[in-house]
Amino acid sequence: MEQSSLIKPVLGGAYPTISHGEGVFLYDKEGKNYLDASSGAVTANIGHGVQEIIDAMKKQANQVSFVYRSQFTSEPAEKLAKKIAELTKGELNYSFFVNSGSEATETALKIAIQHWQEKGKPKKHKIISRWMSYHGITMGALSMSGHPIRRERFTAMLESYPSVSPPYCYRCPLQLDPHTCGMACAKELEATIRRIGGDNIAAFIAEPVIGAAGGAIVPPDGYFQKLKKICEEHDILFIADEVMTGFGRTGKMLASEYWDVEPDIVTFGKGMSGGYTPIAAAVMTRKVMEPIMNGSQSIIGGHTLSANPLSCAVSLAVLEYVEKNNLVEKSADRGKNLIRGLKKLGEKYSFIGDIRGRGLLIGMEFVQDKSTKSSLPKGVDVTNEIIKLGMKNGILLYPAAAGLDGVTGAAIIISPPLTISEDECAELLMRLDITLRQFNEQILP
Ligand code: PLP
Repeated sequence: MEQSSLIKPVLGGAYPTISHGEGVFLYDKEGKNYLDASSGAVTANIGHGVQEIIDAMKKQANQVSFVYRSQFTSEPAEKLAKKIAELTKGELNYSFFVNSGSEATETALKIAIQHWQEKGKPKKHKIISRWMSYHGITMGALSMSGHPIRRERFTAMLESYPSVSPPYCYRCPLQLDPHTCGMACAKELEATIRRIGGDNIAAFIAEPVIGAAGGAIVPPDGYFQKLKKICEEHDILFIADEVMTGFGRTGKMLASEYWDVEPDIVTFGKGMSGGYTPIAAAVMTRKVMEPIMNGSQSIIGGHTLSANPLSCAVSLAVLEYVEKNNLVEKSADRGKNLIRGLKKLGEKYSFIGDIRGRGLLIGMEFVQDKSTKSSLPKGVDVTNEIIKLGMKNGILLYPAAAGLDGVTGAAIIISPPLTISEDECAELLMRLDITLRQFNEQILP
């Protein structure tokens, strides 16, 4: 039977139909199991089929599943907002709930602009981002994203927001030595602000660890502190996009905690509900909200299903599960061991150029030659070939762009549920090893 709900079968034929999931495994209707080494799209942070979440979902569905956010709030929405305020450091106390990471980015953008309008500065409406970034697929979010493959067909419709270089030390965009560069890429933000004028800029947005656009790129220590200081000096809001990194993925509750920076706005998605229901959020500090609360008193944004009580109840149950099971600490510990195991694979295969990441957000970048870091031959769709082989071998991997143009490089992300056990990590490494060996023997020219 032709499949109608999906458009790009990774296997070149029909997608397998999943019958159920349990822990780190998904099972298709033929009974084959897939070790979910990517948590889907870095989302299933607590694994599949967790009974507490199913119970919370049923309980809320029995009470009420939908109220319109402009008429009512709900207990789960209020409790979730409180929980997020508790779990985040500093003054991040105001949550606005939406349904996807892209919507969270759009909301952050609109709130940043509204913040300045309410302060009588309507010219402050540009957003600076990095040219290696992914903040979402909707037009505002894509305008802020430096992901050439996802942008290319729509560039004519996108805002031309300014961008700065990413801290991609493996291939420094500024051709500097990361040991002596003085973090020139962070200083680029200062130069860009001066060029455009701080009076025209509302915010700077960045992923603490670059995900889909670069393959888990971790900045050097000091980088984010420098950026935050520049933002403060020029009266520009700092938006941390923690859609992929939030709620324990990198071994901290928020990845920005690694560098002790407190964003003015944070966006969450993905792991916020672990994929059990759609939900995401833009979370603001009092400083951001005050002019709005004292001004027009409402945020010009939101969607019909914003703050959906069912999704809020599920998200709350997921965040409680993360806390109760110490998954943030587990992510940090497992991540260290897994990176060690992956580095051993890196020594075994000449086409693995770099392994990087924090916690259980790990990237693997592929090259032709480790010493020159040259790209693998054109015509070999490295990332997709590895993902296809992985599917056959029962291991799910997530694609990432890489390279200085965001196109010619190839990378994958390894990001299993934070609940993964040491034995399951060993199984992951074994299945990945088989996949990489087959790629070497069957696909590479
Ligand atoms: N921001 C980041 C950092 C992401 O990784 C993604 C998705 O991959 C998004 C935003 C967009 O989220 P969604 O796909 O839920 O719209």
